[in-house]
Amino acid sequence: MRLLVTGGAGFIGSHFCERMLQRGCDVAAVDDFNDYYDPRIKRRNVESLLQNKRFRLFEADILDPVPMEDLFKSRAFDAVVHLAARAGVRPSIEQPMLYQKVNVEGTTHLLDLSVRHGVPRFVLASSSSVYGSTRSVPFKESANVDFPVSPYAATKRACEILAYTTHFLHGLPVTCLRFFTVYGPRQRPDMAIHKFARLIAEGKPVPMFGDGTTARDYTYIDDILDGIEKSVERASGYRIYNLGESRTTELRRLIGLLEEALGKKADIRQLGEQPGDVPITFADISLAERELDYRPRVAVEDGIPRFVEWFLRNPSNA
Ligand code: NAD
Repeated sequence: MRLLVTGGAGFIGSHFCERMLQRGCDVAAVDDFNDYYDPRIKRRNVESLLQNKRFRLFEADILDPVPMEDLFKSRAFDAVVHLAARAGVRPSIEQPMLYQKVNVEGTTHLLDLSVRHGVPRFVLASSSSVYGSTRSVPFKESANVDFPVSPYAATKRACEILAYTTHFLHGLPVTCLRFFTVYGPRQRPDMAIHKFARLIAEGKPVPMFGDGTTARDYTYIDDILDGIEKSVERASGYRIYNLGESRTTELRRLIGLLEEALGKKADIRQLGEQPGDVPITFADISLAERELDYRPRVAVEDGIPRFVEWFLRNPSNA
């Protein structure tokens, strides 16, 4: 199978490229190595993959028509896995136009290229953030998601809708995956688990927004990779699936797990709630279980020590 993975040098993308190379696929990755976080981290993410003859890296912006057209002309892809995006919630409040451009226009571009070049399957990274600040849990794919509370979340919902329109008009099979806070080795340095680990390890104050009772469904990277892989295998029609662990962990408990794994106490500084943050995320995964045979395996009690082990071995990625 020949795959195109956009955002292939990022956290989830680099793991997915690695997984599919292990499966014997040909993998092309496109990434612009932007400075949302240190691009040297992204280069290290794909360093070992570059040795593999079945891996090709294209350094390009997904919005740039000429290199993207050339990329799609260069080979017939069996599937596009579209992970490239601006991915932070809080920065999207500062830069809504950038998020709209990269996420919405970027996705529109990839959908259009896929239709024109006859790509038979398209998998899109969406997000649990589309559920907004509802407390009605667990979140089901059939819920009303018209009330996102950050520009990031709004762009992800817009991408799902554009994907539907493309499917409707042109028959492109599209699977949208709503990832619930993904963590594990190579997690983005701006994400809470990684940031907290760094601050605790350095003995610096840990800012905790809210009273510590906000809760997240934390999903280990290997489980997300299983869900993406199965979506690539089974893509047909237009589908939306939640990919989470279907368990919630409060922020205070998460910090406690990090403290245990690092063997160090956190110096917590409680701050007010942040705009754009949601009180809880909690995935109902019954649809993905039924249709994708998705079976998440790594509970946060096992996943956090695994993340910390990687974190301590890779200080330069922090
Ligand atoms: P990441 O930032 O590590 O990966 C995204 C990659 O896309 C980066 O390497 C970046 O350089 C690349 N990219 C961004 N804009 C680009 C452009 N214009 N052209 C080419 N490449 C570009 O983020 P991640 O955590 O691996 O997230 C991957 C996807 O999953 C994103 O779409 C994100 O919104 C989604 N997602 C992630 C999480 C999570 O918890 N990590 C949760 C929900 C959804």
